Amino acid sequence: MFSYPVQFKRPATIEEATKLLSDPDAKFLAGGQSLVAAMKIRLAAPSSVVSLAGIPDLDRIEIDSKGVLLGAMVRHAAVAGSAGIRKLLPALASLAGSIGDRMVRNMGTVGGSVANNDPAADYPAAVLALQADILTDRRAIAADDFFKGLYETALQPAEPITAIRFRVPRRAAYLKFKQPASRFATVGVFVADFDGDVRVAVTGAGSCVFRVGSMEAALAADFSPASLRGIQVPAADLSSDIHASADYRAHLIGVLAGRAVAAARG
Ligand SMILES: Cc1cc2nc3c(=O)[nH]c(=O)nc-3n(C[C@H](O)[C@H](O)[C@H](O)COP(=O)(O)OP(=O)(O)OC[C@H]3O[C@@H](n4cnc5c(N)ncnc54)[C@H](O)[C@@H]3O)c2cc1C
Repeated sequence: MFSYPVQFKRPATIEEATKLLSDPDAKFLAGGQSLVAAMKIRLAAPSSVVSLAGIPDLDRIEIDSKGVLLGAMVRHAAVAGSAGIRKLLPALASLAGSIGDRMVRNMGTVGGSVANNDPAADYPAAVLALQADILTDRRAIAADDFFKGLYETALQPAEPITAIRFRVPRRAAYLKFKQPASRFATVGVFVADFDGDVRVAVTGAGSCVFRVGSMEAALAADFSPASLRGIQVPAADLSSDIHASADYRAHLIGVLAGRAVAAARG
């Protein structure tokens, strides 16, 4: 598969995994949905990959009235199919069910997606809008401090995500305009209402997921699609590529935010 030698390691504990990452050329491996693809085209060329698949507890899902905790190795399909998450936090289950295709959902993990911080990935929008905490082997990182830029996060080298803890809002919805081949977000908007404290997180539109303060303030005063009328996200800060121009992405943010609010209101 690769035109150069790569060692595969499968530790049994997170401590062992972290130790194996003391080799600066080693990388954690979750479901391989981004990493293996990058290795095939030599965008990444680690000397060894350290699989997290054999570590107990990393695939746990814990649900109580205050939140949903997903172990880093929980697959997208497990989130989409969890009866508990569908009941308590349906926006998160539906986001997971909208990712890629069946194979990607069966292999891809929440920890891998959030650590990778692809600018068009869906989970970062949920993490930011739902005020999640990213738990590692050594600390909890608030979502607002986690996403730093294009494929860049607050994780230190050799710092594994162990779980992500999502808060449960009063109401929420996620809508995305899919890139038709991969189903990544051309633009995706997650809206969450924590009893008047409203968060609006946008993915796909720029180099990194971001919040829209002007929309959050308007929705805190009046949680209705009408309150978003006239609010524009400046196109100058957005991405242009073969899929969509910056102007089109700016337009989509307004449309999807309004629809997400309508969906969250039920
Ligand atoms: C065809 C295709 C379509 C897709 N469509 C979508 C889509 O519509 N929406 C979407 O959001 N995503 C999409 N994806 C991405 C997919 O959701 C994966 O979750 C994502 O690629 C991460 O993959 P993974 O979990 O297998 O992690 P890997 O590929 O194994 O790892 C990704 C990166 O994260 C690091 N890493 C992994 N786990 C951890 C951890 N616990 N702690 C620290 N670092 C870690 C790895 O070292 C690597 O750098 C698509 C992927 C493919 C191939």
